[in-house]
Amino acid sequence: MRIISSIVEMQQQADRWRAEGKKIALVPTMGYLHEGHISLMRTVRARTEAVVASIFVNPTQFGPSEDFASYPRDFERDCRLSDEVGVDVIFAPEAGEMYPSGSQTHVDVMEVTKPLCGKSRPGHFRGVTTVVAKLFNIVKPHQAIFGEKDFQQLTTIRRMVADLNMDIEIIGHAIVREADDLAMSSRNVYLSSEERKKALRLNLALKEAQGLVDGGERQSDRILARVREVLQPGEDVRIDYAQLCRPDTLEDVVRIEDCALLALAVRVGATRLIDNRILTVQSS
Ligand code: AMP
Repeated sequence: MRIISSIVEMQQQADRWRAEGKKIALVPTMGYLHEGHISLMRTVRARTEAVVASIFVNPTQFGPSEDFASYPRDFERDCRLSDEVGVDVIFAPEAGEMYPSGSQTHVDVMEVTKPLCGKSRPGHFRGVTTVVAKLFNIVKPHQAIFGEKDFQQLTTIRRMVADLNMDIEIIGHAIVREADDLAMSSRNVYLSSEERKKALRLNLALKEAQGLVDGGERQSDRILARVREVLQPGEDVRIDYAQLCRPDTLEDVVRIEDCALLALAVRVGATRLIDNRILTVQSS
């Protein structure tokens, strides 16, 4: 496995692969890898000849009061795990390489970035789409894979790729969970053992909501009221949002017809966790 930090070198490697007729897949990450990331890598490893994982804690997608400086990092371990799963190249640029002074262009996806995390993290998705567009131009992938855990991010990337006619297949990957169903996240290391127990309420609430739909409930407000009860907000569990929306446009849903995305963002202690589930109406 090669480790590349230079943009030009990465582009040259991509050109060589393309000249050899090889298909390239990109797995964008911020590192501190866990089984969720590895599962994305494994999926594209089985589908393409050349796999690039990017490891870049992107400063522009963090707000001024967010955890950019303290975001967990372990580059050596990330390299070992990526190598084990068969990644060909780790692309790990410095921030100065990605954002040289004078840089003044960004990508903004307008509507799907407005609700949910867009409300509480202004500028976040602009940072995400800009860095992903740059990674696409650097790695020149045929495919790129993103986790459904960050559902709004996946929706936003799909919109960007369609709107800007990027010739890249976007693959969505199901949420990978711990044995107790907590969605895997690099930020889970921030949780104390007490907080971790409280974090399990997110998935419990998602399951409870599907149970209500299975029992015939269709009204969003009644489902969301129950979701809030299960989350038990209090001093160290604060709900940022709990919303039911259309999976394609992320617009609010008042009544569930065939399916709806239940999206949660909850602060447990100082850690902001997200999780989601598509609630489906079983046809009888
Ligand atoms: P991150 O390093 O958090 O930016 O995540 C890199 C990629 O891994 C994104 O596409 C995430 O959606 C995906 N990812 C993170 N956690 C999970 C998970 N638990 N299950 C599936 N995909 C995940």
